[in-house]
Amino acid sequence: MIKMIAVDLDGTLLNYEGRISPENAAAIRDAQSQGILVTIATGRAYYDVQQICRQADILTPVIGANGATMHDQSGSSLHSVPMPRDKAMEVLEWLEAQEYYYEVMTDRAIYSPQNGHELMTIEMDRVLSSRTDLSLQTLLHAAEKQYAQHGILRIPSYQNVPLDAEIYNILAFSFMEPKLEAGRSRFRQDAELTLVVSADHNFEVEHPEASKGQALARMAELHGIPLSEVMAVGDSYNDLSMLKIAGRSVAMGNAHQQIKDACGEVTLSNQENGVAHAIRQVLESSLQV
Ligand code: CA
Repeated sequence: MIKMIAVDLDGTLLNYEGRISPENAAAIRDAQSQGILVTIATGRAYYDVQQICRQADILTPVIGANGATMHDQSGSSLHSVPMPRDKAMEVLEWLEAQEYYYEVMTDRAIYSPQNGHELMTIEMDRVLSSRTDLSLQTLLHAAEKQYAQHGILRIPSYQNVPLDAEIYNILAFSFMEPKLEAGRSRFRQDAELTLVVSADHNFEVEHPEASKGQALARMAELHGIPLSEVMAVGDSYNDLSMLKIAGRSVAMGNAHQQIKDACGEVTLSNQENGVAHAIRQVLESSLQV
């Protein structure tokens, strides 16, 4: 029997407009009323997630920053895994030199370069002039999604990230495939980092012990719930660590094929309330027991 459900946000619980639909919110509240622990498990910052959940009138614990942070339902921090500062600075120095749009997620804000929007616009122009298979609308939507996060502060340089801030995650974003691949291969080889890809145009680096899977295992243990009684729902590569350990793994209908192949089942897409559909199945089967 499922006693805990972990749900990713982007491409999973959120629709294309970046919102939690009333159907998905209602399914989460129904699961909670039946004693099931529902947690969000996302790459987003905790304070960003709080705003999104508030708009949908749901309250859950939050595994944030791909597992580098964990907060309970009341907003108290349960655990965090910050990156060593010198490692983070080394990554940022390289990203800034390569003119990446980046975001530094910390315990107080998401720091992003002042010229970030300009860098993105320049890339968009370059990419659109060389590739006919991409539309401006698709690229703008991807860029807007980054800018729309709650808690972004613009800084002149990575050196302006406050010295005492805990750094949980560094996200690099680019529309240019070779540039993106250069960064991915550079940091994938670094044993002092873990690299995840959460969307087509990005990569993220964190502490090696930060992952959605490790955080989910910790939270389940905290509540005395065996992983065999946990369901995880996701759509992308940064979900694999939790999809692999959950007793019931559900890929979104819009997930990459590799994610679907790694899961026990596939639900509807995020535009069709796939999360609500998966939760309803759990609730119905528990009624039959
Ligand atoms: Ca996702």
